[in-house]
Amino acid sequence: MKKEDYEKVMEKMMAVVKPHVGLWDDPFHILITTILSTRTKDEVTDRAALKLFCKCPDPHSLAKCSVKQISSLIEGVGFYREKARNVKETARIIVEEFKGNVPDNREDLMKLPGVGPKVANIVLTFGFNKDYIAVDTHVHRIFNRLGIVNTKNPEETEKILMKKIPRKYWKHINSYAVEFGKNICKPIGPKCQECPLKEWCRFYENSS
Ligand code: SF4
Repeated sequence: MKKEDYEKVMEKMMAVVKPHVGLWDDPFHILITTILSTRTKDEVTDRAALKLFCKCPDPHSLAKCSVKQISSLIEGVGFYREKARNVKETARIIVEEFKGNVPDNREDLMKLPGVGPKVANIVLTFGFNKDYIAVDTHVHRIFNRLGIVNTKNPEETEKILMKKIPRKYWKHINSYAVEFGKNICKPIGPKCQECPLKEWCRFYENSS
């Protein structure tokens, strides 16, 4: 694929799917919601987060809440017991080590339990308006299939995408690719015939 086609790919992808819009716009709520969201449907995450934030609206109240109580509030999200422990500990660290403020850099964010590169980048992007690319399994799979990257893991994908994709798209890649990956470029049985990206796609070229 030629460099000038990367922009066309992004525009086409963004034209065919509607990304999920999060309910929160401040770093703390985005952080906790994103920790809860792994392997969980958006509507289940939103419902659980809403229940949790009614009881614990800030890091101080969440740090004081028991794991048992948090578990019962977020029950339904994947791995909810483990996530209950993680969000409580995350809140405690934010209170004790960061004066109650979510850190605005990747290094400190990734010290928090339940926070890996994807969660950190989502917080930096949507909570602090910084330019990062949050790479999850959908982003990793789609951009490898397209042939824009040829990588073994999401960390590598992130680095290559930052070199290749124009900066104006970075913060949008994750939310659009997640929907595109759920509906069109599915992990199993991608809908290549109806895909608007097929003219640029290496996977399609090799399979047709
Ligand atoms: S053509 Fe197929 S493999 Fe390529 S991006 Fe579209 S759905 Fe995915």
